[in-house]
Amino acid sequence: MSDAPRVPADVVAALDRAPGRALMLGHVHPDADVLGTLLAIGEALQARRWSVVAGGPHPAPGALSFLPGVERYEVLKTLEGAFDVAVLTDCPNPDRTEGLIDAAKRAAPVVVNIDHHPDNRRYGTVNWIDVGAAATGEMVYRLLTALGAPLTPSIATNLFTAVHTDTGSFRYSNVTPETFRIAAALTAAGARPDVVSAALYERRAPDALRMLGESLARVHVSDDGRVAWLALPAGAVPERFIESEELVNYPRSIGSVKVACLLRELGGGRVKVSLRAKGEVDVNRIAGGFGGGGHANAAGCTISGPLDAVTRRVLDAVSAALAAPR
Ligand code: AMP
Ligand code: MN
Ligand code: MN
Repeated sequence: MSDAPRVPADVVAALDRAPGRALMLGHVHPDADVLGTLLAIGEALQARRWSVVAGGPHPAPGALSFLPGVERYEVLKTLEGAFDVAVLTDCPNPDRTEGLIDAAKRAAPVVVNIDHHPDNRRYGTVNWIDVGAAATGEMVYRLLTALGAPLTPSIATNLFTAVHTDTGSFRYSNVTPETFRIAAALTAAGARPDVVSAALYERRAPDALRMLGESLARVHVSDDGRVAWLALPAGAVPERFIESEELVNYPRSIGSVKVACLLRELGGGRVKVSLRAKGEVDVNRIAGGFGGGGHANAAGCTISGPLDAVTRRVLDAVSAALAAPR
């Protein structure tokens, strides 16, 4: 039934052994794909009597406070003690852990790298990269199935949310028949699509729509209509608002737009850039040119400089990419 490639035997073997101490290590600014998959693997290992530490350089955002078990996700600045295995999901390179991957390599003899980013650096002792997977959530569903781990409603909810968010609610070009087969299996196992959608999109704060209005008033569209961008100065809106809104989706939603950009001034002279495309331009290459990365249609980078200068540099790179399509 499945068209998906098999789960590599070394990935299964890394987890299918006598219980010990496991680290589930997340990437910076964790999203639902990384959190859902780490929490799902962690729960499956705990059910097998493993002791599990889950965490990463940044806390889980309030917008994902509904993920089952997320209260166990810790902010880690260093790693305490030794581990039998460390697992990273959805994390293409060591920079995305702010150095914790190096600590994990010292603390654990086995580092399992499970990811769907095309620019994954294969930093693990065991590497499983499937760029055809819409989300790491799909891969971890297949891994837990291969392990014979029971899919509890909480595991199903975590993995369903991972797939739901990385596919833009099953709307993006990464969606395949396998995505729906996995979503169906997760729903059968107790994930509730209505509950997940309400938790993701219908828990806005009372002042969120006013801030959304003020933010969207800053959207610019290029004269040819192919590029739309939103540049937010530091402090223009609170961090918790940005974390709970995928603001880049609004410039993306304009019909003529081929590339959408969100540029957020972070303070400290840095700007976080999110890029989205619709198939015509590979924004991963644009982000890569600024030291970032991601996927062909969704990528990001952080650039030093004043907001207006960074905006101009990014728009120039986008124009150049549009002039030389892939
Ligand atoms: P975002 O725009 O932050 O939602 O990120 C979209 C995609 O780009 C995700 O797959 C991220 O993993 C990737 N990404 C974002 N920022 C960076 C960065 N600074 N370096 C590498 N990849 C990034
Ligand atoms: Mn992620
Ligand atoms: Mn992902």
